[in-house]
Amino acid sequence: MAFEAAFEILEPSGVVQAIMQAVDGTLAAVQPGAVATLGLLGTGALIAGQALAGWLLADLGSGVIHWAQDRYGSPRWPLVGGIVRDTIRHHRKPMGFLDKPVLARSARMIGLALVVLMALLLAGAPLAFALPFAAGIFLSNEIHAAAHAKARSLPGPVRALQRIGLIQSPLHHAAHHRHLKNVNFCTLTDWVNPVLERARFWRRLEAVIRHAGGIRTRRDPVVRRQQRRRWKAA
Ligand SMILES: [Zn+2]
Ligand SMILES: [Zn+2]
Repeated sequence: MAFEAAFEILEPSGVVQAIMQAVDGTLAAVQPGAVATLGLLGTGALIAGQALAGWLLADLGSGVIHWAQDRYGSPRWPLVGGIVRDTIRHHRKPMGFLDKPVLARSARMIGLALVVLMALLLAGAPLAFALPFAAGIFLSNEIHAAAHAKARSLPGPVRALQRIGLIQSPLHHAAHHRHLKNVNFCTLTDWVNPVLERARFWRRLEAVIRHAGGIRTRRDPVVRRQQRRRWKAA
């Protein structure tokens, strides 16, 4: 009642109208700002999503290449035989490639990353996706080397990224070397391998290749030697 009485007194004086106009004006002024803030947040989330997708897909790509080399590759393959030979050597002597200069270790991946980046941009891929994807290829061998290096030799930020798994941690990569080269083929992060292993992705893919194409995985002397050691120890 008191409110209605007050309203009756104020209404003729135009105070209510003035207040309503003031509220309308304030809303009109605030709304574009709120819309712009929401738009910025949306754009930020989209860019972050594209960047993460690029990085994780590069990790998956590293797994496909590594798996193909470990399970089927031959040093006699044309063009890529040299890369397969380096990978076989890495399994015989995992710390060996740490002594090489960065360029000698990563020159091939740097060249491949630049070609892939140009191809993605020409195909119209968003820069926020293409750059992390190419960076993943560019850095894949160095991140792999960091997973083998002694922790005290690595800068603090690298160790912090390893701890959260955005770049692969030594413990995660060690499972690949320990488990007869048949798990954790992706070498960029700690996040893609668990999903693939849970889905038995590589085993299923190898079964499809065996049944559809009659192609079996390579007999690997490094793996056979490790198996013999395990049997003796058992
Ligand atoms: Zn390794
Ligand atoms: Zn391997």
